[in-house]
Amino acid sequence: MAYIVDLRSDTVTKPTKAMKHAMVNSALGDDVFGEDPTVNALESKIANMLGKQAALFVPSGTMSNLIAIMVHCNKRGSEAIVGELSHIFRYEQGGASHLGNVMLTTLPNNPDGTFSLAALEARVRGSDIHEPITSLVCIENTHNVCGGKAVPLKWIDELATVCKKHSLPIHMDGARLFNACEYLKESPARVVRDCASVSVCFSKGLSAPVGSALVGSYHFIEQARRVRKMLGGGMRQAGVLAAAALVALDEIVPALSLDHKRAQRLAKIIQGLFLKSFSVDPDSQHTNIVLVRIPPESPLTSDVVLQRLEQVCLAETQGNCKTPDDEGVIVKGISFNSKTIRFTLHHDIDDEALWLAIMKITYVFKELDAARK
Ligand SMILES: *Cc1c(COP(=O)(O)O)cnc(C)c1O
Repeated sequence: MAYIVDLRSDTVTKPTKAMKHAMVNSALGDDVFGEDPTVNALESKIANMLGKQAALFVPSGTMSNLIAIMVHCNKRGSEAIVGELSHIFRYEQGGASHLGNVMLTTLPNNPDGTFSLAALEARVRGSDIHEPITSLVCIENTHNVCGGKAVPLKWIDELATVCKKHSLPIHMDGARLFNACEYLKESPARVVRDCASVSVCFSKGLSAPVGSALVGSYHFIEQARRVRKMLGGGMRQAGVLAAAALVALDEIVPALSLDHKRAQRLAKIIQGLFLKSFSVDPDSQHTNIVLVRIPPESPLTSDVVLQRLEQVCLAETQGNCKTPDDEGVIVKGISFNSKTIRFTLHHDIDDEALWLAIMKITYVFKELDAARK
């Protein structure tokens, strides 16, 4: 039996003891009737933290983003503008179009998760009857595919000015908003100040088992509640889940900086190996996501590297690449594309697990690099 260090995603985090305790002991009711006190408490807490009027507890970040788009773009023939590397565009099955009848228009993302505001302005439609109706701009913070980047606050402020000029609301996919706030050392309310709506995940780095919140004005959330019901996201005694999310806000948010520190440590060690086949950029790494790049000229691919990390060879367990109980170590990551591997640090990875991951990654990276010389 090998010891597994699972760095595929921060979604693999399991609820903590305190969360399980809260899940068993919280007061419950039927949330579709608005009668679950724990859901109500969570909704008002997260709305408060983000400086908005109201919030809605939803089953997933995907549903949260979809509801936001459907509410902002509720006029037939609407268009939402998104970054081409956004989760909304890449990983939500085109739900906005599929289910919401909303066209998504993409702008190229810069490496820092932003997009050009000049390009945005050039895309905003006027009153030409040939064109769809531009109704929404979506941003992502932290930006996952850009490597967990906290999007610069100054850019969001400038974006807000542009959007105001064109009367366009901003929706922030803040699946990892608290990671962004930790990096920026800013309050969530400040970071989302100019956004009409925000989606936040409790089930990523915050370690709760299920759920996201959609946050905005009373009027927005009133409409969002209707759309959630239509999409089948109206849950009954959802307080069992909200209870864990409430604990996450108190217990896990203050600990996110540890994930960021561990991600830095992993990146710096990979960088310090000075290998031709693998590179990282610790300086541009803001939060809990480590991107390892394989140069285009290398015959290696992400899948080959990830497969090797999931195997244990005899030499590893005879050397020092093993647990104190002589078990081999398996490290799991995910492939963003054939030349990019993502490792994600999270609450279930302590210093010991990180150390074992570092030993294993070092061993395998050196081995694969040597084989290519
Ligand atoms: C995970 C994620 C989502 C979607 O969340 P689910 O709960 O998995 O549906 C949305 N946006 C970003 C940036 C994410 O990382």
